[in-house]
Amino acid sequence: MDFAFENSFHDSMEGFYAPAEAAKPSAPRLLVFNHALAERLGLAADAGDEELARIFSGGTTPEGANPLAFAYAGHQFGHFSPQLGDGRALLLGEIIAPDGARFDVQLKGSGPTAFSRNGDGRAAIGPVLREFLVSEAMAAMGVPTTRALAAVATGDRVQRERAHPGAVLTRIASSHIRVGTFQFFAAHFGADHVAQLSDYSIRRHFPELAETANPPLALLERVIALQCELVAHWLGVGFIHGVMNTDNVAISGETIDYGPCAFMDRFAVNTVFSSIDANGRYAYGRQPQIMHWNMARFAEALLPAIHAVDPAGVDMAKAMVEAIPKQFSAAWRTTTRRKLGLLEADAGDEALADALFDELEKNQIDFTLFFRGLAMMLRGDGALLESLSPDPDAMAPWIAEWWARLARETDAPLERADAMDAVNPLYIPRNHRVEAALASAEAGDLGPWTELLEVIRNPYAERAEWAEYARPAPADAGPYTTFCGT
Ligand code: AMP
Ligand code: MG
Repeated sequence: MDFAFENSFHDSMEGFYAPAEAAKPSAPRLLVFNHALAERLGLAADAGDEELARIFSGGTTPEGANPLAFAYAGHQFGHFSPQLGDGRALLLGEIIAPDGARFDVQLKGSGPTAFSRNGDGRAAIGPVLREFLVSEAMAAMGVPTTRALAAVATGDRVQRERAHPGAVLTRIASSHIRVGTFQFFAAHFGADHVAQLSDYSIRRHFPELAETANPPLALLERVIALQCELVAHWLGVGFIHGVMNTDNVAISGETIDYGPCAFMDRFAVNTVFSSIDANGRYAYGRQPQIMHWNMARFAEALLPAIHAVDPAGVDMAKAMVEAIPKQFSAAWRTTTRRKLGLLEADAGDEALADALFDELEKNQIDFTLFFRGLAMMLRGDGALLESLSPDPDAMAPWIAEWWARLARETDAPLERADAMDAVNPLYIPRNHRVEAALASAEAGDLGPWTELLEVIRNPYAERAEWAEYARPAPADAGPYTTFCGT
């Protein structure tokens, strides 16, 4: 397999990483390979399963790779950790796709690095397959995200609360530069290093910003815009990241570091799934505020570089951060308008959406299915909507308001219903499905996981044979808890 690596970070950013070497797996076995993604990346799929297993477990190092672990810091649950870094991941190298886009190829779970502290650098099969599945679902729904190229069982055991089969995930990202990467160099080295990282980030992601008057300030502005879009996207599909620490915020605007993330079933704004988020810091509805907070930390890290170009940039950076709630609201209004099939903006739309979320919560309605139910109603079929609540009339007053709002637009109901179905997924990785699929996989049967993967890769178009996957969580499912460690 020929990667034709072009390792710009390795070659131009010495001091920003530590060289790393993958641990040799004892019996690598390919679990899944993402052929569609390989094709998009221009990677020739001429290797057999055994060779893929060796490469994507770290068993053999491909030609031209310069394996390295990134240095980074980060605010974890509000507290600054000056020294984190890739403790269980290494970058093999960068590849250039046929369309010219540059991507990192990273192994996650391939053994200890210089940044592992007390960790083992390993990953268990459950979290690896979970990240694979959820990141594929996000990609299928058009949410910016890192991708999963391969998952390989290592044949080794990984000790967590008990022993699990070990695995390695190959993650593809447009880069792994995080807010925490900037924080690391701001905390330890100051303006020169921050400027160097800013320049590199701009060259790599936003080359058009290089010619602006204050490039690091322009970088801040761009990253803020991408984060507003991203979090609006998350809320729109009911996604809860679970660990929005600054080391888990990619400046590319891609969702990164799938740990205790999960999708909400019944709508509740305070929904938290992560076992380590006891205070609900990263609850569903708090994600916009946390994004704002994280961007304030990003601005702080950039300030020395912004100031070095022009001291007046500091006040502009502050103003940009202060404007985030407004900017996010605009992105969120656009998202909700699309979900509700509204084509034109109207002054009352925000109130209409807010009232909807209150009603959904009060009536414990399944978030995903409600929007599909609305579209079904436009087609003259109210059965799905009625099935979502024990009291079929509970949502009637709000639906009447929405109906009246639609009457002010001219679009035909069937076209509107199709437009809604194109943005409102029917199939998401529902928690009870994910758990069952991962339990089977850990016991050696990949069948349910593979089928679930196929379903979530096609989130919008209804298929009769997938009816079970569109059902809400069983009423007796009880509270759901997710755990961190990949
Ligand atoms: P995360 O939960 O992915 O945001 O990870 C937070 C930090 O802990 C990162 O620096 C990781 O590299 C590190 N880390 C997490 N799990 C392990 C592990 N098993 N071994 C070494 N480092 C780890
Ligand atoms: Mg992380």
